[in-house]
Amino acid sequence: MALLETSGLTAFYGDFQALFGVDVAVDAGEIIAIIGANGAGKTTLLRSLSGVLANEADAIRFDGSAIGRLAAPDVMARGIAMVPEGRKLFPSLSVQENLQIGTYGRKADGPWSLESVYELFPILKERRANPSTALSGGQQQMVAIGRALMSNPRVLLCDELSLGLAPVIIRDIYAVMPKLRASGAAIVLVEQDIEQALKVADRVYCMMEGRITLAGTPAELSRDAIHNAYFGVA
Ligand code: ATP
Repeated sequence: MALLETSGLTAFYGDFQALFGVDVAVDAGEIIAIIGANGAGKTTLLRSLSGVLANEADAIRFDGSAIGRLAAPDVMARGIAMVPEGRKLFPSLSVQENLQIGTYGRKADGPWSLESVYELFPILKERRANPSTALSGGQQQMVAIGRALMSNPRVLLCDELSLGLAPVIIRDIYAVMPKLRASGAAIVLVEQDIEQALKVADRVYCMMEGRITLAGTPAELSRDAIHNAYFGVA
C-alpha cells in the first residue's frame, strides 16, 4: 500500500467539476511529478490532498487512514505539508521567523530544524534576519520549502516551484530534491516545466482536463506520448 493515494478522486468548484476519478499514489522516499497544461487540474489535486477542498473520506488514504474529509489543519498535523504556488511568505517577518512558522502545529519529531534547513540552503542562514521581501524569488522559494520542512512532513506537496524563476535558480532549487527523498519524505511535485519534472521524478503523471491521461517512469514515457497526454491528440 502506498503512503498517500487517491482513488476515484473528484473535485468541484460549485457546479464545475475539476477532477474526474483521479488515481495517484506516492510512497515514502519517492518523488512523483504531476504535469499538465494550465487548467488541467494540478493545483486542484494538491488542494484536495492538503485538505483545502473536502472530498469523500475514502477517496484519499494516508498511511492506511481515510483522510478525504479532514480539514487542512488536521491534514497538516498528520504530516502532509504544502509549498504553495506563489510562496505565500509573511512579508513583515524575517526569514527565520517565516521558517519558525512551519513548526506551529508540528506533532512529529524528525530530521528538520532551523539548523538542518540552513544546512540545506546556506544562503538563508546568511539572510536570516532580513525581511522575506528583501530576498530574490529563488531565495523566497527556499524559505517556502524550508518552512514546510520545519513541520517534519512525511509528504511534501510542491506547487510549481519553478514558476517565475531563472533556469539556473530552478536547477539549484531542484538540486535539493534527492536529499529530501533520502530523508524519507514522499514528494509530490506539480510542474509545468516538463524537462525538470522528468529529471527529478521517479514517476510522472500527466493530467488533462481533470483526468490522468498517462503515467509511468521517465524512462518509460516517450516525448510523443507525453505531448499527446499533455495537449491531447488533434
Ligand atoms: P495552473 O497551472 O493554471 O494552476 P492547474 O492544472 O493547476 O492549472 P487548476 O488550477 O487545478 O489547474 O484548475 C482546474 C480547473 O478548475 C480549471 O478549469 C480552473 O479554471 C478551475 N478552477 C480552479 N480554481 C477554481 C475556483 N476557485 N473556482 C472555480 N473554478 C476553478
